[in-house]
Amino acid sequence: MTSEWAPDSRVVSLGRPPRTPDAPLNTPIVPASSFHAEGPLEYSREGSPTVAALEELLGDLEGGTAVAFSSGMAAVNAALDAVPAGGVVLAPSHSYTGTARRLRELDSVGRITLRTFAADSAESLANGCVGASLVWIETPTNPMMEVTDIRRAVAAAHASGAFVLVDNTFSTPMRQRPLTLGADIALHSVTKFIGGHSDLLMGGLVARDPDLAEFLRTRRVLLGAAPGALEAYLAVRGARTLALRLDRSEETARTIAARLVQHPAVERTLYPGLPSDPGYALMARQATGFGSVLSIVVRGGAEAADRVCLKVRLWTYATSLGGVESLIERRRRWPAESKDVPEGLLRLSVGIENPEDLWRDLDQALRSQ
Ligand SMILES: *Cc1c(COP(=O)(O)O)cnc(C)c1O
Repeated sequence: MTSEWAPDSRVVSLGRPPRTPDAPLNTPIVPASSFHAEGPLEYSREGSPTVAALEELLGDLEGGTAVAFSSGMAAVNAALDAVPAGGVVLAPSHSYTGTARRLRELDSVGRITLRTFAADSAESLANGCVGASLVWIETPTNPMMEVTDIRRAVAAAHASGAFVLVDNTFSTPMRQRPLTLGADIALHSVTKFIGGHSDLLMGGLVARDPDLAEFLRTRRVLLGAAPGALEAYLAVRGARTLALRLDRSEETARTIAARLVQHPAVERTLYPGLPSDPGYALMARQATGFGSVLSIVVRGGAEAADRVCLKVRLWTYATSLGGVESLIERRRRWPAESKDVPEGLLRLSVGIENPEDLWRDLDQALRSQ
């Protein structure tokens, strides 16, 4: 079952057992570290039936071969193993904190050479590509919501002999498919939208080239970063409703973003789905939607922003994103967050609750300063 069906059908249909009499509709949770010898399965760091169901689903949606990992960060590290010793990694000047921290660490011990570019500048990216081994893209960036031109990045990177990885966590393959735009690897924190219920940690890499996918699978074996069967089961179960959840949360995010632009307590609203946003036209060209994460800069800095987090009642003050429940947090409360991120920035992950309830709750929290 492949491209005959639309993505919102495939996300429901793939990763299931063959349709034979009495077979279960869902891939069972197979809690085994080891399997009887002489078959394709031997040991579950290399692969297991429940994990394979998620890989089939994710690979199909992104248009490549997927390898699942125990977390998004495990996937980040596995992908970085493809960089030769001392090789240049070109990455955004600010991005997901875990990735940015790991890149700085690897640079400081001489494992890689880190070079950065401004995520919203095609020139900055093209200049940085020269001599690079890997071009790392996150679009939109977490949490500044800048949009990078994937096609242009791929052209510049491939001309320099570099491979391109796109962290596609914010958009999901329902909205953006980096491999079809020429990227070599798409990365997911499956923890976020694909899992969708804030109840698991998992990651995934999808490679266009099967040999590269095999290399990444070997990284999982040697780094010991295999996901558990229960997590894989929950991720597949969560993914079944990805299309529906995203349609709903994205629509609400757009409504809320448009209102936040007018809000007296808000200095800036960062959401590429606003026609006034600098990333709007580009994202409209390379994605089919803008997702449901947005950031706002609250007037009054860190203290005012912290008070908003303590005043919300329907929204939840917690980190992470992409779940059914709406989350809000001040990113700079994390010491590792980039100093480029304003102190008063709140990242909002819009969930699937009633849109007007979400608005009323956010509005009262912003006003009770
Ligand atoms: C959360 C996140 C990661 C890391 O994933 P974990 O599952 O938390 O290890 C990587 N990239 C982005 C964009 C993220 O939001």
